[in-house]
Amino acid sequence: MLGGMTHTSVAAYAAPAPKAPLERTTVPRRELGAHDILIDIKFAGICHSDIHTVRAEWGDGGNFPIVPGHEIAGVVSATGSEVTRYQVGDRVGVGCFVDSCRTCDNCRAGLEQYCTGELGTVNTYNDTDRNGEATYGGYATHVVVDENYALRIPDALPLDAAAPLLCAGITLYSPLAHWQAGPGKKVAVVGLGGLGHMGVKIAHAMGAEVTVLSQSLRKKDDGLRLGADHYYATSDPATFEALAGTFDLIVNTVSANLDMGAYLGLLRTNGTLVQLGVPEQPLPIAPFALIGGRRSIAGSLIGGIAETQEMLDFCAEHGLTSEIEVISADRINEAYERVLASDVRYRFVIDTSTI
Ligand SMILES: [Zn+2]
Ligand SMILES: [Zn+2]
Repeated sequence: MLGGMTHTSVAAYAAPAPKAPLERTTVPRRELGAHDILIDIKFAGICHSDIHTVRAEWGDGGNFPIVPGHEIAGVVSATGSEVTRYQVGDRVGVGCFVDSCRTCDNCRAGLEQYCTGELGTVNTYNDTDRNGEATYGGYATHVVVDENYALRIPDALPLDAAAPLLCAGITLYSPLAHWQAGPGKKVAVVGLGGLGHMGVKIAHAMGAEVTVLSQSLRKKDDGLRLGADHYYATSDPATFEALAGTFDLIVNTVSANLDMGAYLGLLRTNGTLVQLGVPEQPLPIAPFALIGGRRSIAGSLIGGIAETQEMLDFCAEHGLTSEIEVISADRINEAYERVLASDVRYRFVIDTSTI
């Protein structure tokens, strides 16, 4: 029994134990509460965080079985009695979290991802909801979510290529908007992967002059096609001389331990480096790299619900989606290996009708 509530079983792909391959199973979804919507999931993106989590690489153990997936796109198939925002048939998405305390200063300010209340931000999977039940993510046929934590996917965006916007898209949109990427600003995107390629598209659409800093020039043609104005290889020391003091903003999507001093040296006075990737080890920083030039180093985590909706509307307006490879559910484990080998351009999306 699960807390005395009634549930429906839905088909899903789950990791039964740390590092175990994902396999088909069923997980419970709660019956619709008054403010809940039932979503018939159509597509779920594969985020690098999914892989870290099922491999228990982020130190918090994990509550197995884990159904990953926080880039969810689907269609509303039922609504609770008091739902006002959505109707059956609406195209909707769910991102990295499905609830928060709703009363702390951050929740009231639309910064639910930084909820400081007792409940905290309830992650879409591998977390515990306000009823004390495990949350299961989007590698599944259906999900039940409070209408206030769902997003509307504009008609202009195809559901498959929109799914990755719910994590990769907002992860880049939020810092680019917060640090005001736009006309006259020089923005560098470090790494051209699932996150970075969205950074290039969004920063370009915002009007910034965009430079990709990638280990090699292997994806240069892609980068320029996606909207970058310049593309440099960071394996070439001349890059750091040529670009010294250039950027207003650097968004670092790489999870490896980069030489922070070298990258901080690329910022102009008052510039900011925003760290988005999460290396396993701390990043050493020489204070003078910050002091000389009043530079900042900052972090940013996804975005709030209102900002995520703003991002989806922005992407619809500018025709932005993720570059994707759609796969059937039986290829999830193979896709994980390919993500780890950086062999994807640029996001795998699961067709959940194959679960
Ligand atoms: Zn993610
Ligand atoms: Zn809160």
